[in-house]
Amino acid sequence: MQPKQPAPLLIVIASYDANGNGINDYDPAHPELLNDKTSPIYGEQWALTTPKDCYETFFGENGYSMLNYYKEMTNGKFWFYPAHIDQKQNDDAPEGILEITVPIPHPAALRNLSGYNNVIAARKAIHDIVKACDPYVDFAKYDLNGDGIVTPDELAIIILNAGYENSSTKPDLEYSTVREENGPIPSHRYMVHGTSQNTEVEMRGGVKIVKVSNTGEMNSFGPMTIGTPAHELAHNLGAQDMYCRFTPPADRVFGWPIPNQLSLMSRGNNRGHGKMPTYIDPYQRIYLGFSEEEVAEKDGIYTLYSTMSGKYKALKIPTANPDEYILAEVRLKEGFEADLTDGDSKGGVVFWHIDEKINQEWFLKAQCVSSNRPEGNPRHDLGNAIRIRNTFEEIRDENGNLIKYGPYLTMEKNIAPDPFFYKSDDPRTAIYDSSMFCGAASGSYSLNHFPEGVSKDWKLVVEVLDEPGAEMRIKITRG
Ligand SMILES: [Zn+2]
Repeated sequence: MQPKQPAPLLIVIASYDANGNGINDYDPAHPELLNDKTSPIYGEQWALTTPKDCYETFFGENGYSMLNYYKEMTNGKFWFYPAHIDQKQNDDAPEGILEITVPIPHPAALRNLSGYNNVIAARKAIHDIVKACDPYVDFAKYDLNGDGIVTPDELAIIILNAGYENSSTKPDLEYSTVREENGPIPSHRYMVHGTSQNTEVEMRGGVKIVKVSNTGEMNSFGPMTIGTPAHELAHNLGAQDMYCRFTPPADRVFGWPIPNQLSLMSRGNNRGHGKMPTYIDPYQRIYLGFSEEEVAEKDGIYTLYSTMSGKYKALKIPTANPDEYILAEVRLKEGFEADLTDGDSKGGVVFWHIDEKINQEWFLKAQCVSSNRPEGNPRHDLGNAIRIRNTFEEIRDENGNLIKYGPYLTMEKNIAPDPFFYKSDDPRTAIYDSSMFCGAASGSYSLNHFPEGVSKDWKLVVEVLDEPGAEMRIKITRG
Protein backbone atom coordinates (compact mmCIF):
# COMPACT_ATOMS: atom_id res chain seq x y z
CA MET A 1 0.00 0.00 0.00
CA GLN A 2 2.33 2.74 -1.18
CA PRO A 3 0.87 6.14 -0.33
CA LYS A 4 0.62 8.25 -3.47
CA GLN A 5 0.16 11.53 -1.67
CA PRO A 6 0.14 12.95 1.88
CA ALA A 7 -2.62 11.36 3.97
CA PRO A 8 -5.09 12.83 6.44
CA LEU A 9 -4.71 11.55 10.00
CA LEU A 10 -7.39 11.29 12.66
CA ILE A 11 -6.12 11.15 16.24
CA VAL A 12 -8.62 9.73 18.71
CA ILE A 13 -8.04 10.37 22.41
CA ALA A 14 -10.04 7.59 24.07
CA SER A 15 -11.36 7.52 27.64
CA TYR A 16 -12.93 4.52 29.35
CA ASP A 17 -16.06 5.23 31.36
CA ALA A 18 -16.70 1.77 32.81
CA ASN A 19 -20.12 2.46 34.32
CA GLY A 20 -21.18 4.73 31.47
CA ASN A 21 -22.33 7.62 33.67
CA GLY A 22 -20.37 10.26 31.76
CA ILE A 23 -18.25 11.21 34.77
CA ASN A 24 -14.69 10.32 35.70
CA ASP A 25 -15.35 8.34 38.89
CA TYR A 26 -11.73 8.08 39.97
CA ASP A 27 -11.57 8.94 43.69
CA PRO A 28 -8.06 9.41 45.07
CA ALA A 29 -9.32 8.14 48.43
CA HIS A 30 -10.40 4.87 46.80
CA PRO A 31 -8.11 4.00 43.89
CA GLU A 32 -8.73 0.30 44.58
CA LEU A 33 -12.23 0.62 43.09
CA LEU A 34 -10.66 0.92 39.64
CA ASN A 35 -8.87 -2.36 40.10
CA ASP A 36 -11.49 -4.47 41.84
CA LYS A 37 -13.24 -6.70 39.34
CA THR A 38 -16.48 -6.58 41.34
CA SER A 39 -16.55 -2.77 41.36
CA PRO A 40 -18.89 -0.96 38.92
CA ILE A 41 -15.97 1.27 37.94
CA TYR A 42 -13.47 -1.56 37.36
CA GLY A 43 -11.24 -0.45 34.47
CA GLU A 44 -12.42 3.19 34.47
CA GLN A 45 -9.63 5.34 33.05
CA TRP A 46 -9.98 8.81 31.58
CA ALA A 47 -7.44 10.51 29.37
CA LEU A 48 -5.27 13.26 30.80
CA THR A 49 -4.28 14.50 27.36
CA THR A 50 -6.26 17.19 25.59
CA PRO A 51 -6.45 17.83 21.83
CA LYS A 52 -4.48 21.04 22.34
CA ASP A 53 -1.71 19.04 24.03
CA CYS A 54 -1.18 16.84 21.02
CA TYR A 55 -1.90 19.17 18.10
CA GLU A 56 1.61 20.64 17.92
CA THR A 57 3.24 17.27 18.63
CA PHE A 58 1.57 15.68 15.64
CA PHE A 59 0.65 18.46 13.27
CA GLY A 60 2.89 21.43 14.15
CA GLU A 61 4.41 23.15 11.11
CA ASN A 62 7.56 23.93 13.08
CA GLY A 63 9.97 21.83 15.05
CA TYR A 64 10.03 18.09 15.63
CA SER A 65 6.38 17.28 14.88
CA MET A 66 5.25 14.07 13.26
CA LEU A 67 4.19 16.05 10.20
CA ASN A 68 7.76 17.28 9.84
CA TYR A 69 9.22 13.85 10.59
CA TYR A 70 7.56 12.25 7.58
CA LYS A 71 8.12 15.30 5.40
CA GLU A 72 11.83 15.29 6.19
CA MET A 73 12.32 11.54 5.75
CA THR A 74 10.45 11.38 2.45
CA ASN A 75 11.88 14.59 0.99
CA GLY A 76 8.40 16.06 0.86
CA LYS A 77 6.69 13.04 -0.75
CA PHE A 78 4.54 12.08 2.21
CA TRP A 79 3.26 13.31 5.55
CA PHE A 80 0.17 13.11 7.76
CA TYR A 81 -1.98 16.25 7.94
CA PRO A 82 -5.04 16.78 10.17
CA ALA A 83 -8.22 15.11 8.94
CA HIS A 84 -11.15 17.50 8.65
CA ILE A 85 -13.64 17.24 11.51
CA ASP A 86 -17.08 17.81 9.97
CA GLN A 87 -18.93 18.11 13.28
CA LYS A 88 -16.72 19.90 15.76
CA GLN A 89 -17.00 18.68 19.35
CA ASN A 90 -16.68 22.23 20.66
CA ASP A 91 -15.93 25.70 19.33
CA ASP A 92 -12.19 25.63 19.79
CA ALA A 93 -11.59 21.97 18.94
CA PRO A 94 -8.69 21.67 16.50
CA GLU A 95 -8.78 19.78 13.21
CA GLY A 96 -7.59 16.19 13.14
CA ILE A 97 -8.35 15.26 16.75
CA LEU A 98 -11.39 13.78 18.48
CA GLU A 99 -12.04 13.05 22.17
CA ILE A 100 -14.07 9.89 22.52
CA THR A 101 -15.45 8.25 25.67
CA VAL A 102 -16.70 4.66 25.49
CA PRO A 103 -18.80 2.96 28.21
CA ILE A 104 -16.50 -0.01 28.75
CA PRO A 105 -13.47 -0.75 30.95
CA HIS A 106 -9.95 -0.14 29.59
CA PRO A 107 -9.01 -3.19 27.48
CA ALA A 108 -6.28 -4.25 29.96
CA ALA A 109 -9.06 -4.58 32.55
CA LEU A 110 -11.79 -5.76 30.18
CA ARG A 111 -9.68 -8.77 29.18
CA ASN A 112 -9.91 -10.11 32.75
CA LEU A 113 -13.71 -10.25 32.65
CA SER A 114 -15.70 -13.34 31.77
CA GLY A 115 -15.98 -13.90 28.02
CA TYR A 116 -12.91 -11.81 27.17
CA ASN A 117 -9.21 -12.29 26.59
CA ASN A 118 -6.46 -9.99 25.28
CA VAL A 119 -7.52 -10.28 21.67
CA ILE A 120 -11.27 -9.97 22.19
CA ALA A 121 -10.88 -7.05 24.61
CA ALA A 122 -8.60 -5.09 22.26
CA ARG A 123 -10.89 -5.81 19.32
CA LYS A 124 -13.96 -4.65 21.25
CA ALA A 125 -12.32 -1.46 22.51
CA ILE A 126 -11.00 -0.49 19.08
CA HIS A 127 -14.29 -1.27 17.37
CA ASP A 128 -16.32 0.77 19.84
CA ILE A 129 -13.92 3.72 19.74
CA VAL A 130 -13.86 3.88 15.94
CA LYS A 131 -17.64 3.52 15.76
CA ALA A 132 -18.04 6.39 18.21
CA CYS A 133 -16.15 8.66 15.78
CA ASP A 134 -18.79 8.19 13.09
CA PRO A 135 -20.98 11.23 13.94
CA TYR A 136 -18.05 13.64 13.71
CA VAL A 137 -16.32 12.74 10.45
CA ASP A 138 -17.73 11.89 7.03
CA PHE A 139 -15.54 8.84 6.50
CA ALA A 140 -17.10 7.95 3.13
CA LYS A 141 -15.50 10.94 1.43
CA TYR A 142 -12.04 9.52 2.20
CA ASP A 143 -12.72 6.34 0.20
CA LEU A 144 -10.95 7.83 -2.80
CA ASN A 145 -11.04 4.71 -4.97
CA GLY A 146 -14.64 3.89 -4.06
CA ASP A 147 -13.99 0.30 -2.99
CA GLY A 148 -15.96 0.66 0.25
CA ILE A 149 -12.85 0.50 2.39
CA VAL A 150 -11.08 3.50 3.87
CA THR A 151 -7.45 2.34 3.81
CA PRO A 152 -4.69 3.94 5.93
CA ASP A 153 -3.21 5.66 2.88
CA GLU A 154 -6.61 7.34 2.31
CA LEU A 155 -7.20 8.18 5.99
CA ALA A 156 -4.95 7.09 8.83
CA ILE A 157 -6.34 6.65 12.34
CA ILE A 158 -4.44 6.44 15.60
CA ILE A 159 -6.06 5.85 18.97
CA LEU A 160 -4.32 7.35 21.99
CA ASN A 161 -5.74 5.24 24.81
CA ALA A 162 -6.16 6.86 28.22
CA GLY A 163 -3.09 5.77 30.15
CA TYR A 164 0.45 4.75 29.44
CA GLU A 165 2.14 2.99 26.55
CA ASN A 166 3.74 -0.17 27.83
CA SER A 167 7.11 -0.35 26.08
CA SER A 168 8.19 3.20 26.92
CA THR A 169 6.85 3.41 30.47
CA LYS A 170 8.59 2.59 33.73
CA PRO A 171 5.87 0.76 35.64
CA ASP A 172 5.10 0.86 39.35
CA LEU A 173 6.69 -2.44 40.36
CA GLU A 174 5.33 -2.11 43.89
CA TYR A 175 1.82 -2.26 42.65
CA SER A 176 1.19 -5.35 40.54
CA THR A 177 3.04 -8.18 38.90
CA VAL A 178 1.06 -7.85 35.70
CA ARG A 179 2.90 -5.58 33.28
CA GLU A 180 -0.20 -4.11 31.65
CA GLU A 181 -1.81 -3.34 35.01
CA ASN A 182 0.93 -1.52 36.91
CA GLY A 183 1.01 1.92 35.32
CA PRO A 184 2.92 4.49 37.37
CA ILE A 185 0.00 6.48 38.83
CA PRO A 186 -3.06 5.20 40.73
CA SER A 187 -5.63 6.66 38.33
CA HIS A 188 -3.84 5.15 35.30
CA ARG A 189 -2.78 1.60 36.11
CA TYR A 190 -3.90 0.11 32.78
CA MET A 191 -1.50 0.25 29.84
CA VAL A 192 -1.61 -0.76 26.18
CA HIS A 193 1.13 -1.98 23.87
CA GLY A 194 1.60 0.12 20.76
CA THR A 195 0.19 -1.88 17.87
CA SER A 196 -1.15 -1.68 14.38
CA GLN A 197 -4.53 -3.44 14.46
CA ASN A 198 -6.87 -4.88 11.93
CA THR A 199 -10.50 -4.09 12.62
CA GLU A 200 -13.77 -3.99 10.73
CA VAL A 201 -16.08 -1.14 11.55
CA GLU A 202 -19.02 -0.13 9.36
CA MET A 203 -19.42 3.62 9.11
CA ARG A 204 -22.07 5.88 7.62
CA GLY A 205 -22.14 6.00 3.83
CA GLY A 206 -21.36 2.31 3.49
CA VAL A 207 -17.62 2.39 4.11
CA LYS A 208 -15.50 0.28 6.42
CA ILE A 209 -12.50 1.13 8.56
CA VAL A 210 -10.12 -1.85 8.50
CA LYS A 211 -6.88 -0.78 10.16
CA VAL A 212 -5.90 1.55 12.99
CA SER A 213 -2.82 2.28 15.05
CA ASN A 214 -3.20 1.99 18.77
CA THR A 215 -1.02 3.35 21.57
CA GLY A 216 -1.16 5.00 24.98
CA GLU A 217 -1.58 8.73 25.52
CA MET A 218 1.53 8.94 27.73
CA ASN A 219 4.89 7.41 28.45
CA SER A 220 7.36 7.84 31.30
CA PHE A 221 8.56 11.14 29.88
CA GLY A 222 5.13 12.80 29.70
CA PRO A 223 2.49 13.09 26.98
CA MET A 224 2.96 10.67 24.09
CA THR A 225 5.85 11.62 21.85
CA ILE A 226 5.89 10.90 18.14
CA GLY A 227 8.26 7.90 18.01
CA THR A 228 5.84 5.07 18.75
CA PRO A 229 2.94 6.64 16.80
CA ALA A 230 5.25 7.16 13.80
CA HIS A 231 6.28 3.48 14.02
CA GLU A 232 2.71 2.21 14.29
CA LEU A 233 1.45 4.44 11.48
CA ALA A 234 4.27 3.19 9.24
CA HIS A 235 2.98 -0.34 9.90
CA ASN A 236 -0.41 0.70 8.60
CA LEU A 237 1.27 1.71 5.35
CA GLY A 238 3.00 -1.67 5.09
CA ALA A 239 6.28 -1.30 7.03
CA GLN A 240 7.43 -4.36 9.00
CA ASP A 241 9.14 -4.70 12.36
CA MET A 242 12.92 -4.92 12.34
CA TYR A 243 13.42 -6.45 15.76
CA CYS A 244 13.21 -10.07 16.92
CA ARG A 245 9.57 -11.03 16.70
CA PHE A 246 8.38 -14.29 18.21
CA THR A 247 11.73 -15.26 19.72
CA PRO A 248 11.07 -16.85 23.13
CA PRO A 249 13.30 -15.39 25.89
CA ALA A 250 15.15 -18.70 26.33
CA ASP A 251 16.02 -18.63 22.63
CA ARG A 252 17.40 -15.09 22.59
CA VAL A 253 20.89 -14.48 21.28
CA PHE A 254 22.79 -11.62 22.88
CA GLY A 255 23.73 -9.08 20.22
CA TRP A 256 21.62 -10.53 17.41
CA PRO A 257 22.40 -7.87 14.79
CA ILE A 258 19.05 -6.14 14.32
CA PRO A 259 19.23 -2.58 12.97
CA ASN A 260 18.62 -1.01 16.41
CA GLN A 261 18.27 2.76 16.06
CA LEU A 262 19.21 2.71 12.37
CA SER A 263 15.52 2.03 11.68
CA LEU A 264 12.29 3.46 13.04
CA MET A 265 10.96 -0.09 12.76
CA SER A 266 13.63 -1.48 15.10
CA ARG A 267 14.58 0.75 18.05
CA GLY A 268 14.68 4.10 16.26
CA ASN A 269 11.26 5.09 17.60
CA ASN A 270 12.69 5.52 21.12
CA ARG A 271 15.50 7.94 20.23
CA GLY A 272 15.39 11.16 22.25
CA HIS A 273 12.61 9.65 24.42
CA GLY A 274 10.57 9.32 21.23
CA LYS A 275 10.86 13.04 20.38
CA MET A 276 13.41 12.45 17.63
CA PRO A 277 12.66 9.13 16.00
CA THR A 278 15.17 8.05 13.39
CA TYR A 279 14.34 7.28 9.78
CA ILE A 280 13.08 3.99 8.42
CA ASP A 281 15.80 1.72 7.02
CA PRO A 282 16.55 2.28 3.30
CA TYR A 283 15.10 -1.09 2.26
CA GLN A 284 11.69 -0.02 3.56
CA ARG A 285 12.00 3.61 2.47
CA ILE A 286 12.17 2.24 -1.05
CA TYR A 287 9.48 -0.38 -0.38
CA LEU A 288 7.07 2.27 0.90
CA GLY A 289 7.76 4.57 -2.04
CA PHE A 290 9.34 7.20 0.21
CA SER A 291 12.73 7.14 -1.52
CA GLU A 292 14.31 6.20 -4.83
CA GLU A 293 17.10 3.78 -5.49
CA GLU A 294 19.87 3.95 -8.04
CA VAL A 295 21.49 0.73 -9.22
CA ALA A 296 25.29 0.54 -9.46
CA GLU A 297 25.58 -1.95 -12.30
CA LYS A 298 29.19 -1.07 -13.01
CA ASP A 299 32.16 -0.65 -10.72
CA GLY A 300 33.30 2.93 -10.29
CA ILE A 301 32.51 6.12 -8.41
CA TYR A 302 28.98 7.04 -7.31
CA THR A 303 27.64 9.92 -5.22
CA LEU A 304 25.34 9.43 -2.24
CA TYR A 305 23.20 12.24 -0.83
CA SER A 306 22.02 12.85 2.73
CA THR A 307 18.31 13.09 3.47
CA MET A 308 18.37 16.79 4.27
CA SER A 309 20.18 17.61 1.03
CA GLY A 310 16.77 16.94 -0.55
CA LYS A 311 18.38 14.45 -2.97
CA TYR A 312 18.49 11.32 -0.81
CA LYS A 313 18.49 7.98 -2.55
CA ALA A 314 19.85 4.59 -1.69
CA LEU A 315 22.47 3.05 -3.95
CA LYS A 316 21.81 -0.60 -4.75
CA ILE A 317 25.00 -2.54 -5.39
CA PRO A 318 24.33 -5.96 -6.94
CA THR A 319 26.58 -8.84 -5.88
CA ALA A 320 27.56 -12.19 -7.43
CA ASN A 321 24.33 -13.67 -6.04
CA PRO A 322 21.21 -12.24 -7.74
CA ASP A 323 19.27 -12.55 -4.44
CA GLU A 324 21.74 -10.48 -2.45
CA TYR A 325 22.74 -6.86 -2.78
CA ILE A 326 24.13 -4.03 -0.72
CA LEU A 327 22.29 -0.78 -0.11
CA ALA A 328 24.52 2.20 0.61
CA GLU A 329 23.15 5.41 2.09
CA VAL A 330 24.27 8.55 3.93
CA ARG A 331 23.02 9.00 7.47
CA LEU A 332 24.06 12.38 8.84
CA LYS A 333 23.42 13.41 12.41
CA GLU A 334 21.16 16.31 11.53
CA GLY A 335 17.43 17.04 11.57
CA PHE A 336 15.46 14.27 13.23
CA GLU A 337 18.62 12.15 13.22
CA ALA A 338 20.72 14.61 15.23
CA ASP A 339 20.54 12.04 18.05
CA LEU A 340 21.04 9.01 15.79
CA THR A 341 23.91 7.68 17.92
CA ASP A 342 25.36 8.54 21.30
CA GLY A 343 28.44 10.77 21.20
CA ASP A 344 29.35 13.49 18.75
CA SER A 345 30.27 11.70 15.53
CA LYS A 346 28.90 13.44 12.44
CA GLY A 347 27.50 10.43 10.63
CA GLY A 348 28.55 9.02 7.29
CA VAL A 349 27.83 6.07 5.05
CA VAL A 350 25.91 3.01 6.31
CA PHE A 351 25.80 -0.24 4.35
CA TRP A 352 22.99 -2.77 4.45
CA HIS A 353 23.19 -6.37 3.24
CA ILE A 354 19.84 -7.29 1.68
CA ASP A 355 18.91 -10.89 0.94
CA GLU A 356 15.69 -11.04 -1.10
CA LYS A 357 15.47 -14.81 -0.82
CA ILE A 358 15.07 -14.41 2.94
CA ASN A 359 12.77 -11.43 2.59
CA GLN A 360 10.48 -13.31 0.21
CA GLU A 361 9.80 -15.81 2.96
CA TRP A 362 10.02 -13.64 6.08
CA PHE A 363 9.46 -9.95 5.35
CA LEU A 364 5.66 -10.00 5.33
CA LYS A 365 5.72 -12.20 8.44
CA ALA A 366 7.63 -9.38 10.20
CA GLN A 367 10.51 -11.76 10.85
CA CYS A 368 13.12 -10.93 8.24
CA VAL A 369 15.59 -9.97 10.98
CA SER A 370 14.26 -12.23 13.75
CA SER A 371 16.38 -14.71 15.65
CA ASN A 372 13.51 -17.13 16.16
CA ARG A 373 13.57 -20.81 15.23
CA PRO A 374 10.16 -21.37 13.67
CA GLU A 375 8.99 -24.89 14.51
CA GLY A 376 12.45 -25.78 15.74
CA ASN A 377 14.06 -25.04 12.37
CA PRO A 378 17.46 -23.36 12.40
CA ARG A 379 17.64 -19.57 12.54
CA HIS A 380 17.89 -17.78 9.21
CA ASP A 381 20.21 -14.96 8.18
CA LEU A 382 18.82 -11.43 8.31
CA GLY A 383 17.20 -10.20 5.12
CA ASN A 384 17.97 -6.60 6.07
CA ALA A 385 21.32 -6.61 7.88
CA ILE A 386 23.40 -3.65 9.03
CA ARG A 387 27.03 -3.48 8.01
CA ILE A 388 28.62 -0.94 10.31
CA ARG A 389 31.85 -0.30 12.22
CA ASN A 390 32.78 -0.64 15.89
CA THR A 391 29.66 -2.59 16.81
CA PHE A 392 30.27 -6.22 15.78
CA GLU A 393 32.48 -8.50 17.86
CA GLU A 394 36.03 -8.44 16.50
CA ILE A 395 38.08 -11.48 15.58
CA ARG A 396 41.82 -10.74 15.87
CA ASP A 397 44.99 -12.59 14.98
CA GLU A 398 47.71 -13.43 17.52
CA ASN A 399 49.25 -9.97 17.05
CA GLY A 400 45.99 -8.28 17.92
CA ASN A 401 45.14 -7.16 14.38
CA LEU A 402 41.49 -7.16 13.40
CA ILE A 403 40.95 -9.76 10.71
CA LYS A 404 37.17 -9.93 10.53
CA TYR A 405 33.96 -9.42 12.47
CA GLY A 406 31.92 -12.10 14.20
CA PRO A 407 28.20 -12.54 13.59
CA TYR A 408 26.86 -10.69 16.63
CA LEU A 409 26.95 -7.20 18.08
CA THR A 410 28.83 -6.47 21.29
CA MET A 411 25.85 -4.54 22.63
CA GLU A 412 22.21 -5.41 23.03
CA LYS A 413 20.06 -2.36 22.40
CA ASN A 414 22.35 0.17 20.82
CA ILE A 415 25.08 0.65 18.27
CA ALA A 416 28.48 2.31 18.65
CA PRO A 417 28.69 6.13 18.74
CA ASP A 418 30.61 6.09 15.45
CA PRO A 419 29.46 3.14 13.34
CA PHE A 420 29.78 5.10 10.07
CA PHE A 421 32.14 4.88 7.13
CA TYR A 422 33.83 8.03 5.85
CA LYS A 423 37.13 9.29 4.44
CA SER A 424 39.91 8.86 6.93
CA ASP A 425 43.59 7.96 7.14
CA ASP A 426 42.49 4.78 8.89
CA PRO A 427 41.44 2.34 6.15
CA ARG A 428 39.04 0.62 8.55
CA THR A 429 37.04 3.85 8.70
CA ALA A 430 37.00 4.49 4.95
CA ILE A 431 36.62 1.02 3.51
CA TYR A 432 33.69 -1.37 3.66
CA ASP A 433 34.86 -4.87 2.77
CA SER A 434 32.13 -7.49 2.49
CA SER A 435 34.57 -10.27 3.41
CA MET A 436 34.82 -8.80 6.94
CA PHE A 437 31.12 -9.45 7.66
CA CYS A 438 29.14 -12.68 7.86
CA GLY A 439 25.54 -13.83 7.96
CA ALA A 440 24.33 -14.12 11.56
CA ALA A 441 22.98 -17.65 11.10
CA SER A 442 25.10 -19.07 8.27
CA GLY A 443 28.39 -17.54 9.43
CA SER A 444 29.13 -17.21 5.71
CA TYR A 445 31.39 -14.24 4.86
CA SER A 446 30.70 -11.76 2.00
CA LEU A 447 27.56 -13.55 0.80
CA ASN A 448 25.03 -15.67 2.64
CA HIS A 449 25.00 -18.00 -0.32
CA PHE A 450 27.51 -18.45 -3.14
CA PRO A 451 25.82 -19.56 -6.39
CA GLU A 452 27.51 -22.32 -8.34
CA GLY A 453 30.59 -21.09 -10.14
CA VAL A 454 31.12 -18.10 -7.82
CA SER A 455 34.42 -18.24 -5.92
CA LYS A 456 34.26 -18.08 -2.12
CA ASP A 457 36.83 -15.32 -2.48
CA TRP A 458 34.31 -13.07 -4.21
CA LYS A 459 33.92 -9.79 -2.36
CA LEU A 460 32.70 -6.24 -2.60
CA VAL A 461 34.96 -3.41 -1.51
CA VAL A 462 33.66 0.13 -1.22
CA GLU A 463 35.91 3.04 -0.40
CA VAL A 464 34.29 6.21 0.91
CA LEU A 465 36.06 9.17 -0.69
CA ASP A 466 34.58 12.04 1.34
CA GLU A 467 34.23 13.12 4.92
CA PRO A 468 30.70 13.18 6.41
CA GLY A 469 28.58 15.61 4.40
CA ALA A 470 25.50 16.16 2.28
CA GLU A 471 27.22 14.55 -0.71
CA MET A 472 29.57 11.61 -0.28
CA ARG A 473 31.30 9.77 -3.11
CA ILE A 474 32.03 6.08 -2.92
CA LYS A 475 34.22 3.88 -5.11
CA ILE A 476 32.93 0.38 -5.79
CA THR A 477 35.09 -2.63 -6.68
CA ARG A 478 33.65 -6.14 -7.05
CA GLY A 479 35.36 -9.42 -7.78
ZN1 LIG B 1 6.07 -2.61 15.26
